[in-house]
Amino acid sequence: MGGSEVRSLAVLTGAGISAESGIATFRGMGGLWEKVPIEEVATPWGFARDPRRVWEFYDARRRQAAGCSPNAGHRALARLEEALGPERFTLVTQNVDGLHRLAGSRNLLEIHGSLWRVRCTRCGEEREDRRVPLPDLPPPCPACGAMLRPAVVWFGEVLPEEVFGRAVAAAEASALFLVVGTSAQVEPAASLARIAAGHGAALWEVNPEETPLTPLCDRSWRSEAGAVLETVAAEALSFLGG
Ligand code: NAD
Ligand code: ZN
Repeated sequence: MGGSEVRSLAVLTGAGISAESGIATFRGMGGLWEKVPIEEVATPWGFARDPRRVWEFYDARRRQAAGCSPNAGHRALARLEEALGPERFTLVTQNVDGLHRLAGSRNLLEIHGSLWRVRCTRCGEEREDRRVPLPDLPPPCPACGAMLRPAVVWFGEVLPEEVFGRAVAAAEASALFLVVGTSAQVEPAASLARIAAGHGAALWEVNPEETPLTPLCDRSWRSEAGAVLETVAAEALSFLGG
């Protein structure tokens, strides 16, 4: 606190910011998620029962994401990071599609992992794998031959401690916390907004629909991210003092 205080921004994004890129949201209509029961493809017990089925689902998600590009919303956040500098900007995303990185975001915390990373179920080695489609399902670990799994956080799993700790620190330090395109129903991601507000941050939301966070918000834009994030970014800059 005091004269040297740096006013920083933390942003939390969810599946909604990628909707305009053509990636189905989780609860939205017509998505990949409608065709498969989530507990069979996005839980550790679903994977234990039928790893091939889970891998077919993830291979389909990778194929879909590989054909999509960042949209105006992703780009507006990447430009905002450039304007503020990485030390005053943290982007926390629940998305696993990789589009924020492609748009140029650098200070990025992918708290639910990435479609483009795989982890060995035996030796634990994790690495990037961008092959689309994967030649063998389930894919074998190049180091030990055991089965790989997607390096994403499934329902019923704990978030990676180090990454989530950095997200909490960014939320606590922020003067402004901006929530974009998340239904705020998945914890502990949604609690980041409450932590920020509890530490005195202003809370802004961009979502065509109301969410459980809406009553806590100082400002809300009932719009699609691509249409308003440029404007919201300009207002955030002036709110934070350049
Ligand atoms: P969600 O599907 O629960 O909610 C999406 C939200 O986005 C809704 O509130 C909806 O009103 C809003 N929305 C729809 N179109 C929008 C637009 N154009 N602009 C702004 N907002 C828009 O998503 P969630 O809250 O991120 O939770 C879903 C979980 O599933 C997360 O854990 C996430 O990891 C995963 N998921 C990720 C992706 C992805 O990587 N793109 C896609 C689907 C699901
Ligand atoms: Zn291995």
